Amino acid sequence: MRLTKIKLAGFKSFVDPTTVVLPSALIGVVGPNGCGKSNIIDCVRWVMGESSAKYLRGESMTDVIFNGSSSRKPVGQASVELVFDNRDGTLGGQYASYNEISVKRQVNRESQSHYYLNGTRCRKRDITDVFLGTGLGPRSYAIIEQGMISRVVEAKPEELRVYLEEAAGISLYKERRRETERR
Ligand code: ATP
Ligand code: MG
Repeated sequence: MRLTKIKLAGFKSFVDPTTVVLPSALIGVVGPNGCGKSNIIDCVRWVMGESSAKYLRGESMTDVIFNGSSSRKPVGQASVELVFDNRDGTLGGQYASYNEISVKRQVNRESQSHYYLNGTRCRKRDITDVFLGTGLGPRSYAIIEQGMISRVVEAKPEELRVYLEEAAGISLYKERRRETERR
């Protein structure tokens, strides 16, 4: 499974529709300070369901929407789509047979988020389910940002266990058990 495309519009500094193509497994993003490198990482977390503004380096959830610049007016919504090559069937539960999986999230100024899986409107849970147990997720170790190494080093045993369980693929089954117990 590999992320092959990121399509953004109205997300942070990416006001115009932009497609970032990731042609190989190893990609370097370079550019001057403030050009939007970290915003790309934020958008990946955001699509996968991140619901804490702090983790997206903002104060409220609508801070991800382009809020204007000296030459442009703010816009009303942000949208990001991630396209994965899934020919190896890593992603997905019921979607595992799809060669390509697209997940998309939109948010408007009223803080309403809509999620889409391969173009069809779905629940946030459906998106979470696609990634559960794959090691990829809004807070997973698949994204290692500044400060994360020290968070892992300083983590309490219970917090470390969460990382280990995701790496071992156990978190999927724990989540299923929690659901069954709730019913
Ligand atoms: P550095 O090299 O310093 O880490 P970077 O390339 O990672 O820089 P980012 O943090 O991705 O930069 O981008 C910061 C830029 O994004 C700032 O110019 C900021 O004004 C802009 N930005 C963030 N949120 C919004 C928003 N909602 N609307 C418009 N611009 C935004
Ligand atoms: Mg940065």
